[in-house]
Amino acid sequence: MKAKMNNFSDLGLTEAILRALDAEGYSKPTPIQAKAIPVVLDNRDMVGIAQTGTGKTAAFVLPILHQIINGLYRPSRGCCGALILAPTRELAMQIHESVQTYSRFVSVTTALLIGGVKPHKQIKSIARGVDIMIATPGRLEDLESSDALSLEETKIVVLDEADQMLDMGFIPAIRRIMSKLPRQRQTMLLSATMPKQIRHLAKDFLKNPAEVSVAPASKPIDRIEQIVLPVAKADKRQKLVEILNKQDVERAIVFTRTKHGANKLARHLEQAGLAADAIHGNKSQGQRQRALEGFKAGDIPVLVATDIAARGIDVDGVSHVVNFELPNVPEVYVHRIGRTARAGTEGVAISFCDAEERDLLRAIEKLIGRRFDSVPDSERTTQSMPQNGPKKHAANSRGKHRGKPGGEGGRSASGSASHNTRSRRRPARSAGNDNNRSGSASKSSNQNGRRWA
Ligand code: AMP
Repeated sequence: MKAKMNNFSDLGLTEAILRALDAEGYSKPTPIQAKAIPVVLDNRDMVGIAQTGTGKTAAFVLPILHQIINGLYRPSRGCCGALILAPTRELAMQIHESVQTYSRFVSVTTALLIGGVKPHKQIKSIARGVDIMIATPGRLEDLESSDALSLEETKIVVLDEADQMLDMGFIPAIRRIMSKLPRQRQTMLLSATMPKQIRHLAKDFLKNPAEVSVAPASKPIDRIEQIVLPVAKADKRQKLVEILNKQDVERAIVFTRTKHGANKLARHLEQAGLAADAIHGNKSQGQRQRALEGFKAGDIPVLVATDIAARGIDVDGVSHVVNFELPNVPEVYVHRIGRTARAGTEGVAISFCDAEERDLLRAIEKLIGRRFDSVPDSERTTQSMPQNGPKKHAANSRGKHRGKPGGEGGRSASGSASHNTRSRRRPARSAGNDNNRSGSASKSSNQNGRRWA
């Protein structure tokens, strides 16, 4: 019988890592962590099927750190011990931040290699060799081909969000990168879904991998209240302003299909008096970073995003996701709404559906195995909001609720009594001015749409 892994110490992680986890308020491993960490510590290759919000980053970062701390790797100049590849800059930055957080009590060197910024500093950061390198494929290949870095000594490789790499056309680049790595290595591949091409990738580059998975990606997190509003295309902007003004919005990500659409919509929201910004691939890295920081800090409560740019946005207090347009690929719906209800909190996902989008809606229903009630918009009541729409929440800035992600929900791991899973408004640290919602508030939000999870 397998031993139960209820605590991080049961997993055999080094004391300095346990201390960092404790400081973060993580009381116990999430399901993906409990399954993946022993496998990685055992030096096995691994395929991890998990969506964002399940704690998947720590599931591979913690055992990598453990191995590095325990002296397995001493990279030479321009080399790295572990390489983590991510499809987007935002996700790479997020992983880098996590590595730094979990290694705060040990000396581990890290480098972040992403596009959109000049490479000079990045080249310097790897010149003496680095323990963990987090990179997007394009910048990694650029630096590798200019001889600024070598992959010869890399012992551990992680391909994070492989399905997104596929969507973004990175698979040829990944194959080229993989072929430059030493044969003797440990490889991990993480993906929310497992399309054929990703299975092939795993078969070609992983050796006898252990497969660990949690909640299939076709199943949106249960804590997300999902609402579909039939709205005519021409009425969508107006409806969005109404929702952002009237709903109990803490932070909202609004998804559009195109970059141009994201810009236009953000401008419209600004004109309607809402602080909003757009984030997409045509923006410079600096603009993207500023928008993200403003959003994290609560200065810009509404972020209009395209799918690719939104990958890797890990902000705990996102109370609402709005699908201004439904995605063409149904799995993307699951990824989008997974931006809310992170780390043990609840969230609301509102999807607009115009007449032309009905087939897309049907495809989503098929994927997640549920049907939406089609309630005409006019029959829905709208929850009133204490303040007039989303505004600055300085007191709440960067408040991170450290509840258990992807699991049963419940109280925050840090034990804050003020926060429960019904509260969408305030992460744990803003207990002082928490506009706490009770069960009845949750009921009233249901009038506004159907709980369909
Ligand atoms: P991820 O799925 O890696 O994007 O992680 C989602 C969120 O869960 C992040 O904000 C992490 O900081 C947080 N997290 C990861 N592991 C734990 C844990 N064991 N307990 C509490 N929070 C966690």
